[in-house]
Amino acid sequence: MAPVGLVIFDNDGVVVDSELLANEVLAAVLTGEGYPVTADECIRDFMGGSLDGVRSTVEERAGLELPSTFAERYHDRLFEAFSTRLRPVAGITGVLDALEGPYCLASSGTVERINRSLAVTGLGSYFEGRIFSADMVRRAKPAPDLFLHAAAALSVDPSRCVVVEDSPNGVRAGLAAGMKVLGYAALTPAARLGGAHATFGDMGELPGLLRGLDD
Ligand SMILES: [Mg+2]
Repeated sequence: MAPVGLVIFDNDGVVVDSELLANEVLAAVLTGEGYPVTADECIRDFMGGSLDGVRSTVEERAGLELPSTFAERYHDRLFEAFSTRLRPVAGITGVLDALEGPYCLASSGTVERINRSLAVTGLGSYFEGRIFSADMVRRAKPAPDLFLHAAAALSVDPSRCVVVEDSPNGVRAGLAAGMKVLGYAALTPAARLGGAHATFGDMGELPGLLRGLDD
């Protein structure tokens, strides 16, 4: 391919180690709303998607209507958990320090969630001015909208973008955007990141994979 023009990082599970934490909170809140579910099931069914997607799936499956306070309740508990338990993904700062070309962040989370997660992990300065949220587009992942929006905002052709994702929804979104996708198989087995150009299990492998795409 043409040299990599932009590396687009997913946030949750790729930059901040939030997936287990967030899915524990989501499971507790949904169970409290009358939809009993475990964190593992939330990871399997909802990881990489938006909260609106969770709402519509739950309402469709269970025939119940989640209250209007659902998102607020979830975020309250999530931000509380973030403040004490959120950490950067192991090895991510080394990757960001080693990158020579442009990179940005594109997340299904709200702007507030992204900003809080970066602030408590001390990673905010890496992405300042280059943060894109599902709030900014009509359709969340697995639609390609957010990745295409990020590429357009930074004036890079999608064919020169590489997406780093850890969820099936995110991998699908990257492929639909016409981008190369590298799948970080941490919580999701590599087999479920199908279609990714390559998968890896340790952040230390990422710089080499990116260099390989430049050739
Ligand atoms: Mg993710």
